[in-house]
Amino acid sequence: MSARILDGTEVAAVVKEEVSKAVADLAYQPGLATILVGDDPASHSYVRGKRRDAGQVGIRSIHHELPDSIDQIELTALIESLNADDDVDGILVQLPLPGDLNGESAVETIDPAKDVDGLHPFSLGKLMLGQPGLRPCTPSGVMRLLDHYDIGTAGSRAVIVGRSYLVGRPLAMLLLERGADSTVTVAHSRTVDLPAVTSEADILVAAAGSPGLIKAEHVRPGATVIDVGVNRTDDGLVGDVDFGAVVEVAGAITPAPGGVGPMTRAMLLANTLRAAEARRGVG
Ligand code: NAD
Repeated sequence: MSARILDGTEVAAVVKEEVSKAVADLAYQPGLATILVGDDPASHSYVRGKRRDAGQVGIRSIHHELPDSIDQIELTALIESLNADDDVDGILVQLPLPGDLNGESAVETIDPAKDVDGLHPFSLGKLMLGQPGLRPCTPSGVMRLLDHYDIGTAGSRAVIVGRSYLVGRPLAMLLLERGADSTVTVAHSRTVDLPAVTSEADILVAAAGSPGLIKAEHVRPGATVIDVGVNRTDDGLVGDVDFGAVVEVAGAITPAPGGVGPMTRAMLLANTLRAAEARRGVG
C-alpha cells in the first residue's frame, strides 16, 4: 500500500495564511532584513524566495546584498546597524558565507530578539533548556508538519539521521520537549548498521545530505518518513529518501521537493511575526 503524502506546500500555505492574518491585525508592518554576501546562485535563489514569501504575507523585506570582497568587520557593522534599527524585527544572514567570512560569528552578532533563523547560541540555549524562544526554521517546520497531520509524537520512537546544529540536534530537542515526548535517537555518519537503527523508528527523519540514503530496508512498515535532504544531482533536486521504494513501505512520507522545504520558509515568516510581537509587547 502506498503511504499518505505529507504535503509541505499545502501546510506552508496554511501557516502563511495565519501569519498574513496576524500581520494584517498589527498596527505596524514587521520588517525582515536579509543579508546576502557573494554570488552563489543557490543562495541568491533562496533569498529571493524568502523575500517573495515575506511580501506575500505583508512583511516588509529589507535587503542588503554585499560583494564577497567585504571583510568580517564590515559585515559586523551592518548587522549591528540592523540590530539598532527599530523597523527591523528579524535579521537573516544567508549561510554559508563565502571565502574566509565566519558565519557563526555573523550569527552571534545578531540581537537574539531578532534571531528569526533561531541559530544564535542564545536561541539554541533556550531550546536546550526547554524555555520559549525563536526555534530554528527547519526543525520547527518538521514539528508543524507532524502536528498538522495529527501524527502523534508522544511515546513514539523517533530516529533522526544527521547531527548538524541546523537540523538534527535542534529537531532532537524539539521531539524530546515535554508535550512532544518522543524517545529520540540521533544517527550520523559514524553510526554502525544504520538500517537496524532506523528501522526501529515510528518517525524517521532523514537530514544527512546524501541522495537516496534511506531505502525500504531502513524503514519499519507504517512509519512516518520525513525527508529534509536537498541534494543537487544531474537529475535535479532530490532528497535523502529513495521515495519510489519507501512510499510503498511507510505509512506517511514527505515528498522532496515539496515537503520540508516550503515549511522551512513558512516558519521563517512565523518567527518574524513572533519576533515583531515580542519586541513590541504584543501577542
Ligand atoms: P550537514 O552536512 O551539516 O550534516 C549532515 C549530517 O548527516 C551529519 O551529522 C552527518 O554525520 C550525517 N550523515 C551524512 N552522511 C551520512 C550517512 N551516510 N549516514 C548517516 N549519517 C550521515 O547537513 P545539514 O545542514 O544538516 O543538512 C542536511 C540536509 O538537509 C542537506 O541535504 C541540506 O541541503 C538539507 N537541508 C534542507 C533544508 C530544507 O529546508 N529542506 C534545510 C536545511 C538543510
